[in-house]
Amino acid sequence: MKRIVLLGAPGSGKGTFSAQIKKVLPDIIHVSTGDIFRENVKNNTELGKKAKSYMDRGELVPDSLVIDLVIDRLNKKDILENGFILDGFPRNIEQSNALQENSSIDIVLLLEVSRDVITKRILGRFGCNKCGEIYNKYTLPPKIEKGEDQWICDKCGAEIKFEQRSDDTEETLKNRLDAYEKNAKPIIKYYKKKKLLKKVDAENTLELSAADIKKIIEV
Ligand code: AMP
Repeated sequence: MKRIVLLGAPGSGKGTFSAQIKKVLPDIIHVSTGDIFRENVKNNTELGKKAKSYMDRGELVPDSLVIDLVIDRLNKKDILENGFILDGFPRNIEQSNALQENSSIDIVLLLEVSRDVITKRILGRFGCNKCGEIYNKYTLPPKIEKGEDQWICDKCGAEIKFEQRSDDTEETLKNRLDAYEKNAKPIIKYYKKKKLLKKVDAENTLELSAADIKKIIEV
């Protein structure tokens, strides 16, 4: 059982890296706060309505809406038994402290990627509306192209168009990267001090083998 925190800028490949970890530890549970918020926005829940304006501006959603949500999730039976990959949390010291007080962590992985690669990944990123499979226009398009910016989903066969996530635009990207850098520094320091931090070269997470992943997560 492993409890893993993933740190890294938006577009550093936390989602992709989580999928790679799941190949090695199939029962581990991926908790992405960004996914939870997007799901709530999509379903127009009370939480979604409150979070949307912050997300659209590329700002962090207030701690009062995030911390309890995550701590509750981490204390559910499935996670207590199978462990977690926490993706997108903590994003500030208050969140790190709350996590420290309410859960144990085995390892904190910092995915390191250059700004160039991040920009390409983020501005090219899109997903299948039907099954949620994630692609990248520049680096990882679906195999079958139907026309300009149109493909067939490799996973479910649905027709998909290139459509950016509403917060994946050039305007919000700068805000999100600046916010990440400002907020990440103290968190990185915090986990370094606790001797939990491990840096991972994530310029190309897609090329990691199962053996590489095992070595990184120490299983
Ligand atoms: P992500 O997919 O992790 O980049 O998250 C998308 C958006 O959700 C962020 O830009 C924030 O607005 C919000 N969000 C996700 N995780 C957090 C968090 N831990 N604290 C505050 N806001 C968050």
